[in-house]
Amino acid sequence: MKIFLLIVLFNLFFLPQSFLAKSQNLRQGDESFYQLRSSHFIINYQEGVDRAYARKIKEKSEHFYKKITQEFHLVRDKLWLWDNRAKIFIAKDKEEYLRNFYCPDWSAACVDYQTKTIYTYPSQKDFIAILAHELTHIIFREYIERGSLPLWLDEGMALYIEANFAGSEYHDFLYQIQERVKNNNFIPFEKIMNLKTFDLKDKTVSEVNIFYLQSFSMINFIVKRYHKHRFSQFLWNLKNESDVEKALSKTYYHLNNLSNFEEKWKEFYLK
Ligand SMILES: [Zn+2]
Repeated sequence: MKIFLLIVLFNLFFLPQSFLAKSQNLRQGDESFYQLRSSHFIINYQEGVDRAYARKIKEKSEHFYKKITQEFHLVRDKLWLWDNRAKIFIAKDKEEYLRNFYCPDWSAACVDYQTKTIYTYPSQKDFIAILAHELTHIIFREYIERGSLPLWLDEGMALYIEANFAGSEYHDFLYQIQERVKNNNFIPFEKIMNLKTFDLKDKTVSEVNIFYLQSFSMINFIVKRYHKHRFSQFLWNLKNESDVEKALSKTYYHLNNLSNFEEKWKEFYLK
């Protein structure tokens, strides 16, 4: 259940800032970590981690970095070079992961967006998908240049990249959403537009999964129906307009208000 794993990651952001800062301090001067460097990433891996695995993570990270940037034309002013590279820390195993990074014990990986740092340990079945997902969040936020974004948009983009480039269950996602549209069993757009992380806290896993799935389907619809190039224009407008609905109507003649957006979205999946 990939989506479930993502939710587990997602929960991390309810934790206080000091939680990750603690990991930061503990790591410094810890010489049991080796380094691999690439243009945009520094991979730190603990003694005992297979070097080939660390190399694979390095290559995948560079691959996704380029894909995500190119796919939506997310060109930013500050390049990820030298000290501004993203960091990935790989502990030897789960025990070391918990000891060194203070990530929650139910997590497979955790992320600090501010310092562009991802913490994990090897043999995560879905780590490649998690990597693509989290890198999308980091790059997208950096491009938009603001901390808070509509949750459906932020998660929808990350899942879109995962589904298209990291082998997530794209067709399964599509099938599920078609069924929901057919049965009129979805979250009304008025509601999903304003859903915040906090609102999902008390929801059941299946309710949260529906939220993720629908967010994915909304991005998938906009990109596939009106083309990638136009979507980049929308993101550009969003960067310069504070309001997502304004940016939508500025870019798309047919998505000039929420009810039209919902109608067109339904039409697309009923075809
Ligand atoms: Zn996410």
